[in-house]
Amino acid sequence: MSLLLEVSGLDCRYGLLQAVRGVSLEVAAGETVALIGANGAGKTTLLRAVAGAHRPHAGRVIFDRSDITRMPAHERVARGIALVPEGRRLFPSLTVEENLRVAAAGRRGRWNVRTVLEVFPLLQARRHMPAATLSGGEQQAVAIGRALMSNPRLLLLDEVSLGLAPVVVDAVYRSLADVIGEGATVVLVEQDLTRALKVAGRVICMLEGRVVLEGEAASLDRDHVVSAYFGLRRPA
Ligand code: ATP
Repeated sequence: MSLLLEVSGLDCRYGLLQAVRGVSLEVAAGETVALIGANGAGKTTLLRAVAGAHRPHAGRVIFDRSDITRMPAHERVARGIALVPEGRRLFPSLTVEENLRVAAAGRRGRWNVRTVLEVFPLLQARRHMPAATLSGGEQQAVAIGRALMSNPRLLLLDEVSLGLAPVVVDAVYRSLADVIGEGATVVLVEQDLTRALKVAGRVICMLEGRVVLEGEAASLDRDHVVSAYFGLRRPA
């Protein structure tokens, strides 16, 4: 499989605080990778650096063989990178359909208002309602749909289950499975280890800004993952 994303030696800082420390990772076209780790591990910052929302201090981001490290975010969207940010960040007074339409980036592909509503049928009846009136799960679906509207080649999802009831999370992930089934390349941040191991082909675990564990989801030992997640020393 061809590499779609290559991150090498990435350092990200907020003033004196170093949030991402020398991170290198690769994502092949068609892969689903889960980025896991405790609060503050640097997962959000890493996704934001790939999307162009955070300027790294050092390192490189290569997308489809082009160096995009210094490229503005809107140009990355045009090239096919879409981020579903933590906290959704919808336009609250715009309707569902308007929130979707503003994100169309002119890239050709299968995603448009109709196909997004097919994948998220719960939004169909909400189509003309302001986003602010929607439930958390519905808003999350709009946020994912909005990212799809740019017909991305790489979809970055930051904690899509945060603050949602388990039954709603199940519905969101069922729809995501459809998106993944379409052959999308996905990097998702997920706090729920069980869910991450289920949905992703590969898992990357971060701790205090570094990648501490990486492997195929099917072959990773769960205890090993938990130790890496919490930074516990494993018995010899
Ligand atoms: P979470 O699951 O809590 O979102 P995370 O793994 O996504 O955690 P980040 O949000 O990337 O981690 O944060 C990494 C570190 O950077 C943390 O120590 C955090 O406090 C710090 N940080 C994040 N955003 C900012 C900011 N805007 N200004 C200053 N420090 C920040």
